[in-house]
Amino acid sequence: MGRVFNFSSGPAVLPQPVLEKVQSELLDWQGSGMSVMEMSHRGEDFTAIATRAEAALRRLLDIPDDYRVLFLQGGATAQFSMVPMNLLREGGSADFIDTGIWSRKAMAEAARYGRVRLAGGGERNGYARVPTPDELDFDPAALYVHYTPNETIGGVEFSYVPDSGSVPLVADMSSTILSRPLDVRRFGLIYAGAQKNIGPAGLTLVIVREDLLGEPATAATPTVFDYRVYADNASMYNTPPTFAWYIAGEVFEWIEREGGLKAMGERNHRKAAKLYALLDASDFYRSPVAVDSRSWMNATFTLADEALSAAFLEGAESSGLKNLKGHRSVGGMRASLYNAMPEAGVDALVEYMREFERVHG
Ligand SMILES: *Cc1c(COP(=O)(O)O)cnc(C)c1O
Repeated sequence: MGRVFNFSSGPAVLPQPVLEKVQSELLDWQGSGMSVMEMSHRGEDFTAIATRAEAALRRLLDIPDDYRVLFLQGGATAQFSMVPMNLLREGGSADFIDTGIWSRKAMAEAARYGRVRLAGGGERNGYARVPTPDELDFDPAALYVHYTPNETIGGVEFSYVPDSGSVPLVADMSSTILSRPLDVRRFGLIYAGAQKNIGPAGLTLVIVREDLLGEPATAATPTVFDYRVYADNASMYNTPPTFAWYIAGEVFEWIEREGGLKAMGERNHRKAAKLYALLDASDFYRSPVAVDSRSWMNATFTLADEALSAAFLEGAESSGLKNLKGHRSVGGMRASLYNAMPEAGVDALVEYMREFERVHG
């Protein structure tokens, strides 16, 4: 079987040119006589790979010099703990914007370390939209504000960056980083699991402003959860996920060759617009998300007649359109449209959906 269009939310589709390059270098990376998987993380070759990946990411996001880039493990889920372990100091409080499952998980974990306060969103919107700027109410004394720019499961995304004033803004960008241009200066700390828009699972990216790298918030913070330790050791305090790091670097360079984040943003906007236009034009399909909060990366939708869902998914599978089933907690469908999903994949999906409606509508 050839390659399918894989709409998985993560681990997700990777750019084919990257997979081909990795394949061509798999047994012998650039004359080293070994695979990147087999290299010492402290050797000259891997150091070059690591440095090159960070440099490409810095160019892409125009990361200022006073921000550090850390290559970690544990996924975004580990960051739900690592952020409060480092930033939520005794007696302090953190503000959270609650837009769905991932922000609630982050908030629940932080509550184990200190006080958390709801600064916007929550149940009352039914998680169908993100709060507007005037609905946000920040505590100026908070140690940080945490939010989830893109809720991967619900398919709601912020179209703006909240203004937290002088309070550091912390963002879980797992499913939206690199999908469009971003002003890193607006943030104190950005984190993202790699398996959506960066590379293979196992790598977690953290971009953190240097002034936030003090002593951890509590003396009990394990060394492997201390940002400063990674910053001081070039993310090699212990063995990093070397192969995932290498592939992430290849993905960063692929994005550059494709025209950078501006081109990604234009392409992603076009992809999402095509799918939402179909949803809006039809009574057969429904989008549960308010128009101004629709995700470019994870488009959720339902069939007006839910009894047709199984047939929809089955037909999609046999047409080479894979992993369209929504998250088990919300049901319905979800098409993840990350950078590596080609426009042809969205065209094929839209065509399949039109045809399914014609036959079953
Ligand atoms: C996928 C995802 C997570 C969880 O990531 P893990 O790597 O499984 O820990 C957290 N937050 C968001 C927004 C995600 O998309």
